[in-house]
Amino acid sequence: MLAEIKGINEECGVFGIWGHEKAAELTYYGLHSMQHRGQEGAGVVVSDGNQLKAHKGLGLVNDVFKNADFSALSGNVAVGHVRYSTQGGKVLENVQPLLFRSQTESIALAHNGNIMNAYKLRGELEEEGSILQTSSDTEVLAHLIKRSGNKITEETIAKALNQVVGAYAYLILKENKMFVALDPTGIRPLSIGRLGEAYVVASETCAFDQIGATFEREVLPGELITISKEGMTSTRFAMREQRKMCAMEYVYLSRPDSDVNHVNVHASRKNMGKELAKESNVSADIVVGVPDSSISAAIGYAEESGLPYEMGIIKNRYVGRTFIQPSQELREQGVKLKLSPVRSIIEGQRVIMIDDSIVRGTTSKRIVQMLKDAGAKEVHVRIASPSIKNPCYYGIDMSTRDELIAANHTLEEISEIIGADSIAYLSEEGLEKAILKDKTIHQGICTACMTGKYPVKEEGAKEIAYTSC
Ligand code: AMP
Repeated sequence: MLAEIKGINEECGVFGIWGHEKAAELTYYGLHSMQHRGQEGAGVVVSDGNQLKAHKGLGLVNDVFKNADFSALSGNVAVGHVRYSTQGGKVLENVQPLLFRSQTESIALAHNGNIMNAYKLRGELEEEGSILQTSSDTEVLAHLIKRSGNKITEETIAKALNQVVGAYAYLILKENKMFVALDPTGIRPLSIGRLGEAYVVASETCAFDQIGATFEREVLPGELITISKEGMTSTRFAMREQRKMCAMEYVYLSRPDSDVNHVNVHASRKNMGKELAKESNVSADIVVGVPDSSISAAIGYAEESGLPYEMGIIKNRYVGRTFIQPSQELREQGVKLKLSPVRSIIEGQRVIMIDDSIVRGTTSKRIVQMLKDAGAKEVHVRIASPSIKNPCYYGIDMSTRDELIAANHTLEEISEIIGADSIAYLSEEGLEKAILKDKTIHQGICTACMTGKYPVKEEGAKEIAYTSC
């Protein structure tokens, strides 16, 4: 049974709004802007002050809300969630926000991150007689809150949060209060905005722009915010530690128009490209980025190197996860779905191919082959982040060392495996330089997957985490 419910780390997005008559609808729009953080499922829980109502489902935000009756989701307060899962846990019961009812009050939870000691905590809960509905680590917190004093208050939430270890951005809703919490190291992003009198909370600031809200501030590491009809109050459930924002939020995960901990994602990626060009430029004719997440870095690389940036690869925007995948036979015949080369641009050229990162190496290999098939004379792969050699325990989807190509091969071997004429990664210093512009605001980034320096440790945490979000 446990093997079945062990999942893989996931990247998710949370959204919350307090004090707007169209709370559920605005949550839908907010979630839609964060669709890139999770495509497996989406949901909203809304409160009208007396009761919590949920609408959720598997699939893309649009699919889930296509048949939503927003008039039945009336209420001024809502929390929402988009969920990503690569394997395991793709079931409706794991789709968030999770909603639990009790005789006294109900509780809904939306979570982005990974609870490293969820396996242990769940075991303890089960031993004491709890039966859990989901295989999600998020549910553990609901139990811990209720066991901390039955009532859902700042105190019981703080007590529960102090028992979990990991990276987490939590939105917790009961009938008349919303709570917002961020882990003591602030690994995952979470911001507060305003829309008129309403408070808005989101994993990414692009959600604020989507609904016309303005950014107010970041949620601080170890902070517990309470929003109610009395307004917003803040307390600390843990000592604030040096913030270590996840570097992969900048490298790959977040949208370019989002600001993560006061740094614009596009600008940071462009800087990564520039640093990469300074470190490992190579004689070539054109610079091509792998759409979409590498375009900013490719622009930066081209600008720094003085080489022309060319649109050598096109992405078909309409290939979703539900698209019918070609059979192996058709794939071998060259049926490609997502990316296509622009042959007239590539042919006869020495190409610098920029990708934001290499995890397993399958994407780079395919693209190098595609560029060579399109007539590229040389393909020099330049990766706008350091090599990923260590599993992530904090909610990014790369949870076992075995699957990471850089953990198991030398640079020369990687170059050979992916068929490149040369390969180079951005250095750790280059990455820090690209992101951490103002040291008075930014205390650091979490680069554990690249450097093995884990800011949060949990003895016995397994490489394969519990189904997380
Ligand atoms: P891979 O084929 O596993 O090397 O995948 C690397 C590609 O996936 C890169 O082009 C990235 O844009 C993207 N990527 C990087 N990190 C992740 C992640 N955690 N989850 C999904 N895709 C990722």
